[in-house]
Amino acid sequence: MTQQPTPLKTLQHRIDHSCRQAGRAAAAVTLLAVSKTRDAEAIRALHAQGVADFGENYLQEALAKQSALTDLDLTWHFIGPIQSNKTRDIAHHFDWVHTVDRLKIARRLSEQRPADLPPLNLCIQVNVDDEASKSGVSLAEVPPLAAAIAGLPNLRLRGLMAIPRADATDGNQAAFRTLAMTLSQLRHTMAAQSAQSLDTLSMGMSDDFETAIAEGATIVRIGTALFGPRPDK
Ligand SMILES: *Cc1c(COP(=O)(O)O)cnc(C)c1O
Repeated sequence: MTQQPTPLKTLQHRIDHSCRQAGRAAAAVTLLAVSKTRDAEAIRALHAQGVADFGENYLQEALAKQSALTDLDLTWHFIGPIQSNKTRDIAHHFDWVHTVDRLKIARRLSEQRPADLPPLNLCIQVNVDDEASKSGVSLAEVPPLAAAIAGLPNLRLRGLMAIPRADATDGNQAAFRTLAMTLSQLRHTMAAQSAQSLDTLSMGMSDDFETAIAEGATIVRIGTALFGPRPDK
């Protein structure tokens, strides 16, 4: 009997292949398993296969899973919209947050980050296609927001995140390239100390991660290609 490769193995092959094609080391790209709507056991099973980074969109759902998985050494990323009343739990229970697009939210996260935890890793969400309905700051708003966040004590600004449109004819290549260029410009304009930690481009999902890797993604956020189609909410 021949064994089917697991979805994870297939995905890792595709990520490795994209890295090779782009002349990048496989270790340059982190797989963030997007586990929204999946249960704690699905996370446990992926962790047993070597996945350490998990992304969640809904706070209450995430907290329930986290408390069922305290025996595992996992890195938790918050990737959903953030209202002010969620910042305390995010500051207490996550290692990363990818979806900050307001200084007010960043300030609260910094104030509420417990002193015994390392700084919260943070990406600014950019509305790279300038879509009316989307979260994220405009490209022009990135430098001032980044400069303000860099001055907050309990955060570590790591880079930029985007969710480009779903219907672009170029597989979002232009959007990914724009985000990469924006990060590179930011590195040049920020003070040396802040620029050093700007190493993250959180971009690419199940349908477009190969293009994102070609354009410099360092974190790809993958749900469907790992876990199968999501149940309707
Ligand atoms: C759901 C989600 C993903 C994963 O999407 P897939 O298409 O299932 O891979 C990635 N990023 C964010 C912000 C999400 O909300």
